[in-house]
Amino acid sequence: MTDTRRSRLVAEVDFEKNGKQNGLVRLFHSTHASAYGFIGIPIVVIKNGTGPTGLLFGGNHGDEYEGQLVMANLARSLKPEQISGRLIIMPCLNLPAGMAGRRTSPIDDANLNRSFPGNPDGTVTQQIAYYVQRNLFPLGDFVVDLHSGGSSLMYVPSAVGRKSSDPKRHASMLALLDAFAAPISFIAAGSEGTGQDQTLTGGADAAGLSVLGSELGGTGTVTAAALRFAERGVRNVLVDRGILPPKERLPTDKPTRIMYTGGDDYFFYASETGVWEPLVELGDMVTKGQPAARIHWPESPWNEPVTVHFKHAGMVLCKRVPGRTTRGDCLFHLGTDEDPG
Ligand SMILES: [Zn+2]
Repeated sequence: MTDTRRSRLVAEVDFEKNGKQNGLVRLFHSTHASAYGFIGIPIVVIKNGTGPTGLLFGGNHGDEYEGQLVMANLARSLKPEQISGRLIIMPCLNLPAGMAGRRTSPIDDANLNRSFPGNPDGTVTQQIAYYVQRNLFPLGDFVVDLHSGGSSLMYVPSAVGRKSSDPKRHASMLALLDAFAAPISFIAAGSEGTGQDQTLTGGADAAGLSVLGSELGGTGTVTAAALRFAERGVRNVLVDRGILPPKERLPTDKPTRIMYTGGDDYFFYASETGVWEPLVELGDMVTKGQPAARIHWPESPWNEPVTVHFKHAGMVLCKRVPGRTTRGDCLFHLGTDEDPG
């Protein structure tokens, strides 16, 4: 069934015009203080002749700052004459969340990366998702959506691919991981905790686009090392897609290590509410049944803490940041060298 509804967002830029344009996408939001007002989400369009179109996003989650900086640096530094084709760059896609430094929007409390394919008549976050799905995906050939662990998680610096049932698109995704050359690239099978089809990646996949994601670090901060490899990685992706010429390719340290994440048993959750003591660290290889963490109760320190064990072997790709935990929080996320299928 064809969706004939129209996005309510309005772009100030002309996607067909050669050159570089800095502008806003107007997200209308009528409030007590501003009856006819809009939220201006920054957009940069760089176009030079014909060629592929890359859709580049940061700030899908507002507290993941690495991607916001990588995309802003790229948007400022690239000149139209350097490229062949078109780049549409939105460094802080969920601007209200970005301005608040939060994963979710302070306006509707919604998570943009759980809002796809969106709704043109929905809340502001649903409207952003719909604009991307309906107006931007049809213009693109590939998508880069940079994430990191945000406030509650820290990741081993990684690129993320999503399995595709289409062999051509799957090969294209592997080429993107190869070009990005993160220390680790994990191919995510998806789990209920990570959103699957409601993510931007899921929406792009449904639209038939190749997608590269990332988990660049986290803890609600930025490291120089993460920025360095991610900026290099995005530029090399543009070389791989023919938007930048081969002479722009930047040297990489070593080929990426491809890993896989499976279903729910690759995620390790807190079984109790309390203060958690990690028994392993990021990058450690763990075995099934190995003690993963102890959960303590400061209000009853004489009670023995509960020891919880891994249900799967693998590498610790991700770790929860805050010491306090509530039952159901993800404490660790694992990856394996073998594809669980
Ligand atoms: Zn994210």
